[in-house]
Amino acid sequence: MDELLIRGGHLIDGTGAPGREADVSVHGGRIVAVERRSTRAAHRVIDARGQFVAPGLIDIHTHSDFTLPLNPRAESKIRQGVTLEVVGNCGFSAAPALPGRAGVLREYLASSAPWLPFGETSFADYVAAFPPTSVNVILQVGHHTLRIMTAGMEARPVTAGELASMERLLAEALAAGAWGLSSGLFTAPGCYADAGEIHALARVLRRHGGAYSSHIRDEANHVDAAVAEAIAVAEATGVHVQIAHLKLSGVDNWGGAARLLDTIAAARRRGLPVDCDAYPYDTATNPLRNLLPRFVMENGIRAMLERLARRDVRERVRAEIAREGLTNFGRIPSWDAVRVAVSPHLPQEAGHTFGDIARRRQVDPLDAVCDFIVADRGETRILVTSMNDKDVQQITGAPWVLVGSDGNALATSGVTSQGKPHPRYYGTHARVLGACVRDGLLTLPAAIHKTTGASAAALGLSDRGVLREGYWADVTVFDPGRIAERGTYDDPHQYAVGVSTVVVNGQVVIDGGDHTGAVPGRVLRRPA
Ligand SMILES: [Zn+2]
Repeated sequence: MDELLIRGGHLIDGTGAPGREADVSVHGGRIVAVERRSTRAAHRVIDARGQFVAPGLIDIHTHSDFTLPLNPRAESKIRQGVTLEVVGNCGFSAAPALPGRAGVLREYLASSAPWLPFGETSFADYVAAFPPTSVNVILQVGHHTLRIMTAGMEARPVTAGELASMERLLAEALAAGAWGLSSGLFTAPGCYADAGEIHALARVLRRHGGAYSSHIRDEANHVDAAVAEAIAVAEATGVHVQIAHLKLSGVDNWGGAARLLDTIAAARRRGLPVDCDAYPYDTATNPLRNLLPRFVMENGIRAMLERLARRDVRERVRAEIAREGLTNFGRIPSWDAVRVAVSPHLPQEAGHTFGDIARRRQVDPLDAVCDFIVADRGETRILVTSMNDKDVQQITGAPWVLVGSDGNALATSGVTSQGKPHPRYYGTHARVLGACVRDGLLTLPAAIHKTTGASAAALGLSDRGVLREGYWADVTVFDPGRIAERGTYDDPHQYAVGVSTVVVNGQVVIDGGDHTGAVPGRVLRRPA
């Protein structure tokens, strides 16, 4: 007898094909039959009449490695139907953290992982200690982390010896099960790497069958060169390249989505293994310090704090921003576009913009920004509305652009419910399957394909992402008329609605809309 039969639903299989009526039988964690009007017996029958049945959704770009150890139930994600998260992105990973370097890494990651306790660990020990969670997890090792382990926060090319150390640490992580390497060339210390350093690491990836994902060097005034740099990695090494959260930031760059999509599509037509992902929002989130010119971060957090206390440094920063716009984000209409998400020293300021704060304090907004960074020791996190709706819609509407929330798995209570994080942490996939489909941006089979079958293909996963006999039983049952996000910028900690059942590795995690407490997810190791 099968363990589970999902009966009577309208099945969209994840391949992009139109839906059909079909029942799904599950046994031993796998899908054992997909057939019209099944007569197979099962211990548990889930009535999916009036609902749609899809593969579990893949969140291809997240930072939930910073919250899953604190919140293994992954509520904000699983309640949208997400069953797999790819973590360790943008060059950030909590491992390896070598003796003598773990403190620098902890200080560096505090603005992204404020509540995560971590210490010295090899990547293999990190994988072994990663807790069972409600979602499956793919781990990547971060380039910033590798650089901090070898060259610290120094603003220079690595030496041959340091590069060899990074290559060795990367190979160790891959052998321990890391799926690949992520980079964050937009900020220190990753931004000090040249193409040669990245290509050398990509050659290690190629030898081990690993993949490369990149938060590219610039998403604003130099975004075209940055996309070209990422594509060149695929061209030079043959390694799969995932361009993270594709966007055009800054008013001077708005309107360029079609051009950017054309560039990537052309590379794909040439046969290069390149994919990209995006979140369907016009607002980004980042450590506040990353809005300032890159020289500010040279030699690490402490050096930065000393610099930003100085009037002459602030004048230089002010002049550079007036000339170039914000680093990474370009020119914004005003500081009202930047709002506090998390501030350790003034948690009550979450939700307020630097326009507001500066007016209230009667100071220049840039001084308010620098004062926050200093008082929070670099840990202030912000939201910045730096994109334009039309670009976001064009990118989201491209059926081959994958879906990554760039957000953490959170919960509405407990340690991860603090601050006012980006609502995309709770709503990205519900928005894509809900509002984006209802607004006509995508058909439902196309929306589901992006975040299931196409994402699995980009990852090289051959037994997930499609509802097919023999595949792992990751399944989402939802009401297409009801699925929606509920979080807002003012009140982000709200679960999405419309998902009734979620099955992970054959076990029911969301049942009748409620979390069962099950944690059947595991770390998916890169196939040898
Ligand atoms: Zn990123």
